[in-house]
Amino acid sequence: MSLKVSESFPPQELFTLSENVGRRIPDWTQGAGGNISVKSKNSLWIKASGERLSDIAGPAERNRFARLDCVKFAQEFQILQQGIDRTKIKQSSVGFDPSGGLFEKEKKYSEMLKVFSDPEFGKASMETAFHIKLPQKYVLHFHALSFILIHELTSADPALMAQVQKLLRAKYQISCHWVDLFLPGFQLSLFLEVGAGDQIYILKNHGIILASDSETILSKFEVLEKDLLKELDVAWEFNQAVPENVGGPIKVFFPDFIIFKNEIKKHLKNSGDKKYFFSRPSPEATKEERGAFENWWATQKLFASNPHLAELSIDFQREVLGLPTEKERFNKSR
Ligand SMILES: [Zn+2]
Repeated sequence: MSLKVSESFPPQELFTLSENVGRRIPDWTQGAGGNISVKSKNSLWIKASGERLSDIAGPAERNRFARLDCVKFAQEFQILQQGIDRTKIKQSSVGFDPSGGLFEKEKKYSEMLKVFSDPEFGKASMETAFHIKLPQKYVLHFHALSFILIHELTSADPALMAQVQKLLRAKYQISCHWVDLFLPGFQLSLFLEVGAGDQIYILKNHGIILASDSETILSKFEVLEKDLLKELDVAWEFNQAVPENVGGPIKVFFPDFIIFKNEIKKHLKNSGDKKYFFSRPSPEATKEERGAFENWWATQKLFASNPHLAELSIDFQREVLGLPTEKERFNKSR
């Protein structure tokens, strides 16, 4: 199999989009979470696994992004999907079904990410499957906290969902999809409906995916996010300076928190009443400590906005930690 494709460097938009999403901490980005891709000819350029979005720019940083052959990866992925009973995944809501061979497929998928990543660059992100599945040139996935709240608020209310859908379509020409809770990576990608034009996928307890043929999708999103929060009457403050310390209960609202849970616990100081504090890391702090703090900060912002926000079950947390793709990421960040 030849991994040679026609270009030797990613389009500039990969860097500008990554920078613009990556600097919005913790509202859009926490630690090394999120991933952005650009398709060019038959290549997919995407952030490498375990890298921070804001760190991937620069000619010397070739291992911080990855390149894959879209066509070959899609063909292999098509084969991998065969024989999967989606309703079974949906019913259990959390994933592994050893008898259905799902765990084997997760392992194979993790292998595929390595095999298909051009060795001249880094190893592709665990969310690569949906970046390839969605046909738009630009696919942006990040953990926009506002949309975790919006999903919680709207998903059980058909009238509200219709209202959001209508607003996004009429004012922003974007099609809107609600996506249930699935394990990140392979399984999530199985449940995304492909459509033409600009799309936004609102992922339960996770974040969003934007797909578009125009890089202006990000500035469009920035406006619609504020608009929607206002429309739905959700109080949210953006771009606060980093506080000296952040306190609150330990809550698990999104998958990356699970990955950082042990690191977070190392830094927490108990102030009684099940309230804990985490002090702002020093400028010399490790990548893990910064990632842990940002995930903690994000969690506390969500909790402050909605103390009743649904947490991820223990079963789901266990499933995430068992994912071959997450194990790789976890080991890398050690
Ligand atoms: Zn994610």
